[in-house]
Amino acid sequence: MRRSLNVAATALAAATAATAATIEDLCTVSNVQAALPANGTLLGIELIPSSVSTSIVYQAVAEETEKLYDYCNVTLSYTHTGANDRVKLNYIMPSPDVFLNRFLVTGGFAYQLNTDFLGSLVYGAATGGTDGGYGALSGTSYSSVMLKGNGSINWDNTYMFAYQALGELTTVAKPLLQGFYATSDKIYTYFEGCSDGGRQGLSQIQRYGDLYDGAILGAPAIRYGQLQVSHLYSNLVEKTLDYYPSACEFNKIVNATIAACDPLDGRTDGVISRSDLCMLNFDLTSIVGESYSCAAASDGSSPAVQGTVSAEAVAVAQGIYDGLHTTSGDRAYVSYQVGSAFSDGATLYNSDSNSWGLNIARKGGEYVAKFVELLNIDNLPNLDNVTYDTMVDWMTTGFERYQDSLQTSLPDLTKFQSHGGKMINYHGESDPSIPTASTVRYWQSVRSIMYPNESEEESLAAMSEWYRLYLVPGADHCKRNTLQPDGPYPVGIIYAVINWVEFGVAPEALNATINSGPYAGEVQGLCQWPLRPLWQSGDNSTFDCVNDTASVDTWEYTFPAFKLPVY
Ligand code: CA
Repeated sequence: MRRSLNVAATALAAATAATAATIEDLCTVSNVQAALPANGTLLGIELIPSSVSTSIVYQAVAEETEKLYDYCNVTLSYTHTGANDRVKLNYIMPSPDVFLNRFLVTGGFAYQLNTDFLGSLVYGAATGGTDGGYGALSGTSYSSVMLKGNGSINWDNTYMFAYQALGELTTVAKPLLQGFYATSDKIYTYFEGCSDGGRQGLSQIQRYGDLYDGAILGAPAIRYGQLQVSHLYSNLVEKTLDYYPSACEFNKIVNATIAACDPLDGRTDGVISRSDLCMLNFDLTSIVGESYSCAAASDGSSPAVQGTVSAEAVAVAQGIYDGLHTTSGDRAYVSYQVGSAFSDGATLYNSDSNSWGLNIARKGGEYVAKFVELLNIDNLPNLDNVTYDTMVDWMTTGFERYQDSLQTSLPDLTKFQSHGGKMINYHGESDPSIPTASTVRYWQSVRSIMYPNESEEESLAAMSEWYRLYLVPGADHCKRNTLQPDGPYPVGIIYAVINWVEFGVAPEALNATINSGPYAGEVQGLCQWPLRPLWQSGDNSTFDCVNDTASVDTWEYTFPAFKLPVY
């Protein structure tokens, strides 16, 4: 029997209010201390009752809402048995009249473990963050503490950042919330994050599958060993071909590609909804000779430029979209979809020589310096003597060294699935920072590992029961795309997952809104992978979700450059 979200929410709120009185009653050190699970209950975690502090915050602004929220700010610390370390936790407990028995972890981004988590209050959820034992709550970046010194990895910090700290945040939260609100009701637990937040969420689903009921994961930064090195690939294509396109020339290539591939999905709206059709049907060399011109940058970083797109620039673009291969031609990793911007390939203007040159992408350079070469520096000084094979070697080192920590590609999610967990995974189809095909690959890996003997039809149906993947037409990395501004972007995904988890109502589609251009206000129900959108001919208001084998095949990759399986 289905209950509506509002009715059930009201009932839950009423039930909570009956037992809980006011936030002033609950938000005390003694109430939190009494709520802490006794030491010995949580294996390896020794809570420190004397570390508890509480304070009430009234009328706080939670993101994107006019409503103000009262909450209890709780901090406490624990140590790992026998470790003499100290990990600080910060929980945000909503006022009992709005608490809906939910805990929502939002994770962080890049090398951060936390982000602003007050937005969870909007969903009647408690939330929290962890300092990971290294100061992450005050903004310390994991990359600044991953080495003890040159050559010496701080494995405690690495495992904490990789998955352990957030897992322990949630492990402690469940009994703490029940004690704090004096309820024996189930605490529904969710994770929402994008980019490394998406990776952090997957780390939880992979390692703590029975702790989480639902997850919304965008563009996860998984396959860390390959992904982080791949940020240097665009630079290496430029260096190998000895051609460094200006930003103006790169932009011309991207915009011409978008213009050419936009209509292939059946609607000319400035959005590539089918990058696979672009890959199958568009020849980048057709851009050679098109003219471009750009004004000088106001900060003097580049002069006014004009010219025509060169064959060399198109060769660089094609090389970037093709992805990394060894010098003998074995594929090592996926790349960005055709039509994505060339962010990693950004070049640097040298006013002395009046030319553009190498600008080593720091995301890749810092990773290789610290995580592969174990040198405590923020970027590689140059790419001298670096070849495509060197990049593959760097990938292999990280792949093997961090296989059970940062790699985050375990494909067996049985614990989460069998516990009833539901997951929505999404990825912008023009993401220039984490390849869209990376997420498709992970979905395929989960499917092949968990349903090895089922037919295609059976495994698709089984996956759809708990893990749904949606590609967002034209979208950038975890946001709308300024180059395809009239594209859709998902909103309110958390409600779709809450409905799925708490009320058994699976989402028909993932709703995404358009907020500019001729179709502003339109809500698109995105297609569930592997179905692909195709606008109906002569109708700019309706698209079908079609089964297109040739297109889906363009998303299938093998990685013979590695001897180990790449999930
Ligand atoms: Ca289009």
